[in-house]
Amino acid sequence: MARRTKSVGIVGRYGPRYGSTLRKRVKKVLEKRYAPHKCPVCGAVGRVYRISTGIWACKKCGAKWAGGAYVPKTGLNLYYPNVMIIDREEYLRRNK
Ligand SMILES: [Zn+2]
Repeated sequence: MARRTKSVGIVGRYGPRYGSTLRKRVKKVLEKRYAPHKCPVCGAVGRVYRISTGIWACKKCGAKWAGGAYVPKTGLNLYYPNVMIIDREEYLRRNK
């Protein structure tokens, strides 16, 4: 079967809308966002997903951390992945 989207890739979802320049710019961002990322805690690749803007989590070990808006690590977050989001229950368990 022929590929439906050739060079447009992930931004094929936008159809002919928004202009080609903007679609190309969005494509760069989205391709990075959905690329398989490595988990900073367990090292699993491809199990990392974005919960919300800047909040990333790993499906395998359940770690959550603050990263970039569209990538789990920007290079600017110096303390990556030291700044982690811990569930309230886990926090209480650790600090008993
Ligand atoms: Zn993990």
